[in-house]
Amino acid sequence: MSNEDVERYRTHEPENLHERYAHRAAHMKPSEIRSLFAVASRPEIVSLAGGMPNLTAIPMETMASIVEKLIKDHGQEALQYGSGQGHPKLREQICDVMALEGIRANPDDILVTTGSQQALDLISRIFIDPGDVVLVEAPSYVGALGTFSQYEASVVHVEMDKDGLVPEALRQAIKTLRYQGRKIKFLYLIPNYQNPAGVLLPADRRTEILDICRREKIFIVEDNPYGLLGFDRPSPNAMRAEDSENVIYLGSFSKTIVPGFRIGWALVPQALREKLVIASESSILCPSNFAQMSISSYLADQPWRDQISSFVELYKARRDVMLETLDAYFPKAATWTRPQGGFYVWVTLPPEIDTKAMMPKAIVAKVAYVPGTAFYADGFGSWSMRLSYCYPTPERIREGVKALAGVVEEEIQRRNTLRLN
Ligand code: PMP
Repeated sequence: MSNEDVERYRTHEPENLHERYAHRAAHMKPSEIRSLFAVASRPEIVSLAGGMPNLTAIPMETMASIVEKLIKDHGQEALQYGSGQGHPKLREQICDVMALEGIRANPDDILVTTGSQQALDLISRIFIDPGDVVLVEAPSYVGALGTFSQYEASVVHVEMDKDGLVPEALRQAIKTLRYQGRKIKFLYLIPNYQNPAGVLLPADRRTEILDICRREKIFIVEDNPYGLLGFDRPSPNAMRAEDSENVIYLGSFSKTIVPGFRIGWALVPQALREKLVIASESSILCPSNFAQMSISSYLADQPWRDQISSFVELYKARRDVMLETLDAYFPKAATWTRPQGGFYVWVTLPPEIDTKAMMPKAIVAKVAYVPGTAFYADGFGSWSMRLSYCYPTPERIREGVKALAGVVEEEIQRRNTLRLN
């Protein structure tokens, strides 16, 4: 047996498999975060890598009784197939949730999805032909970048600063791309407590970006899983609140209730609804009635706004610890964002530091993070990293950030020595 055969045998891979795959399968690659999870989830490592919601604030007894009652009282419906567009009662309740961010919506324009991740897939499926341009923030959500690349989009990053996407940079990017004759399909952005940068887009920029995109006939995909997790004040109104024709709004219960039910939604301009429903039916037939009705009972009978407030307290305390420890221990050559909500801090190091190459050293120091390149489609971001404070305890966050500060300091010293030599 040749070495190649041995390897194929080991991985159970049929011969010439890559030739049998469809062309698009070549674009299906594991995300950087996924391969990190195996290492980062070892108990001795403080993981500042994943973005898992902290479910310690969820009353599990209450969840158990909701689910038990649901099956006892409504099992015939809850365990049956349901509507492709989503459960009508939940769609009404979703309108109440969105009203908190200024959105007035009709339940008919909502498609319930299996997490907002499925909505990203459906939108990509109906809009992206190979080579089409999708505009995204720089940096952007790794899960969205993976989806866009599977549909062979050409992802173009647009500059962000500490206040999110820069409108002038957006104007310039559109102008350049149009001059090159490229087709721009939509702008994907996360205006609230962005993943991975943690920044918040102010109201005036929202209006300006809405104006630009409306004028240029570019849809906006507003992804908003963190909007209700503002620490000191509510976030500005959703962009969808100002424009119901040109904004596709994505919501999710993953961060405000639990991710395990996998319930998200898309609120879409009426003209797009039919296509999205058809696309969704083809991938899942219908979202889980059981999961939708569990969320629906929770919203109907539980103090869900108070629950969101306890999440806010929990995440705010962790954000404080992370920022205090960064301020106290991180080298002065590093900078970082100061999130007013959500899960993430974005750290920028001196450009000569490669955070991917530094990762093994961090693992030895028992801390993990996500290297910045994961959040760019074009290999940029090598001197930055995402730290999340959502999951570990405050003590572990302190321990992890201190350990990471040591690794970064050493790396900066090493680079300085190399340069002097
Ligand atoms: N968008 C963003 C910005 C996210 O951070 C996430 C999850 N980390 C998602 C979408 C997907 O969330 P879900 O599918 O659980 O709703």
